[in-house]
Amino acid sequence: MDKFDVCIAGAGVVGLAIAYQLSRATSYKNKSIVIIEKENSFGKITSSRNSEVIHAGFIMQLIVSKPSYA
Ligand SMILES: Cc1cc2nc3c(=O)[nH]c(=O)nc-3n(C[C@H](O)[C@H](O)[C@H](O)COP(=O)(O)OP(=O)(O)OC[C@H]3O[C@@H](n4cnc5c(N)ncnc54)[C@H](O)[C@@H]3O)c2cc1C
Repeated sequence: MDKFDVCIAGAGVVGLAIAYQLSRATSYKNKSIVIIEKENSFGKITSSRNSEVIHAGFIMQLIVSKPSYA
C-alpha cells in the first residue's frame, strides 16, 4: 500500500482547505498529502448543500465591532 505523510479524511470544504494550506506551507514542502473521500467526488455532502452564506471570522468581526459604529 502507498504511504503518505498526511491523510485527510473527507473532501468537504474543511478537508480541502486543510490540504490546500498544508500544500502551501513551507514545513510541508516535501510531504505527501492524500485526501480520502467516500463519495465519487469532492464536496458532495454538507459543503454543497448549505445556504451559501459564508459564516467566517470576518463576519463575526463585523458583528463584534458593530457597537463602535453606533
Ligand atoms: C443545513 C445547513 C446549512 C448550512 N448553511 C451554511 C451557510 O449558510 N454558511 C456556512 O458558512 N455554513 C453553513 N453550514 C455549515 C457548512 O456547510 C459546514 O460547516 C461545512 O460544509 C462542513 O464542511 P466539512 O468539510 O466539515 O463537511 P462535509 O462537507 O460534510 O465534508 C465531509 C466529507 O467527508 C466525507 N466522509 C465522511 N465520512 C467519511 C469516511 N469514513 N471516509 C471518507 N470520507 C468520508 C463525506 O463524504 C464528505 O465529503 C450549513 C450546514 C447545514 C447542515
